[in-house]
Amino acid sequence: MSQSIKQTPDDAGQCRFCGTRLRRTFTDLGMSPLCESFLRADQLNQMEPFYPLHVYVCEECWLVQLEAYVDPAHIFTEYAYFSSYSDSWLQHAHSYTDIMIERFGLNQQSKVIEIASNDGYLLQYFVAHSIPVLGVEPAANVAKVAIRKGIPTKVLFFGRETAQALAAEGHQADLMVGNNVLAQVPDLNDFVSGMKILLKPHGVITIEFPHLLRLIEGNQFDTIYHEHFSYFSFITAERIFAAHGMTLFDVEELPTHGGSLRIYAHHTEDSSHAISPRVAALRQVEVEAGFTSAAAYRSFEQQVQETKRKLLEFLITARRQGKTIAGYGAPGKGNTLLNYCGIRTDFLDYTDDRNPYKHGKFLPGTHIPIKHPDAIAESKPDYLLILPWNLKDEIIHQMSFIRDLGVQFVVPIPEIRAYQ
Ligand SMILES: [Zn+2]
Repeated sequence: MSQSIKQTPDDAGQCRFCGTRLRRTFTDLGMSPLCESFLRADQLNQMEPFYPLHVYVCEECWLVQLEAYVDPAHIFTEYAYFSSYSDSWLQHAHSYTDIMIERFGLNQQSKVIEIASNDGYLLQYFVAHSIPVLGVEPAANVAKVAIRKGIPTKVLFFGRETAQALAAEGHQADLMVGNNVLAQVPDLNDFVSGMKILLKPHGVITIEFPHLLRLIEGNQFDTIYHEHFSYFSFITAERIFAAHGMTLFDVEELPTHGGSLRIYAHHTEDSSHAISPRVAALRQVEVEAGFTSAAAYRSFEQQVQETKRKLLEFLITARRQGKTIAGYGAPGKGNTLLNYCGIRTDFLDYTDDRNPYKHGKFLPGTHIPIKHPDAIAESKPDYLLILPWNLKDEIIHQMSFIRDLGVQFVVPIPEIRAYQ
């Protein structure tokens, strides 16, 4: 595991896009363990590494960012996140496929390349249309699942070097997809320039990432974790792609992950796609929200602290009344929330997860046990705290039977709320 490159508390390092020295704190969530380092019972008495979750905003390009305290090779080479465990995410991928095939006229002669293709959750739908695909995925255990499904996948980290090697093998994309990967890239410039290399002259890149505007508006501080190095506004994303010779010609706002953007990029010299009016409209929304000055970034820290106080107030009151509380899910965002708020088994008896990889393990830092979902119906807690709150509608619907057992759903973000 690599050591932090930060030498002193005042030295926050340089902006990963433009190189400007970082001076302005966006929010400081204290020290936290890596969110995917689930523990086995025999590891509970061992020392656990904690790293800062201190987020800065660059005063030159307004990229909100966290230093890469840990080598991504450590985080992503064995990853516990399998995209196919979320039904709503699979649906999202399926409808994306249909839209892209239709809009860009993809067929058997086309090539779709996905960066961070995970277990093939998305490319499988292109394969079903006989459209040639290639996945690039650094986590070998996850890539193996994709390959077993018949989806050609390279176990590689993506960047300029990988792009050159793939291009030399004859791979170039009509459509290049990157869903929820841009935030996880420590060397942004290397990554984006790699995408340009792999893009055919009239090819299109679509990238989805959580929208910083929604993060701020919705108090989504728990989406900040060590695996997410950057948090993008549309304006900053536009600037980054422009620096690498690409233009964003369309953008859509999506409900996924608490509010995401899907941006569409092409080579700046490619005039085959008209610029959508949505581009200027969203730019304007962000300018008015203060994203090009310090204004938009100033009050986030206070918002976060108040959200913590309200959540703890609720949990303390519930426990004093003798109520029992269990968690639902073990997502990365849950670990930020629980560690920042200091919520351990003093509040949550356990949490559950659909992913069998996590059963019998414990959450990092807080050591809350992770059980099979059946545990909820067996133990009938008074409250069920939904940690993946972005999926709350899906979860409340799926789990509606437990209401009859007297279990009440609670969602922590944007602020604590119980659902009757
Ligand atoms: Zn910058």
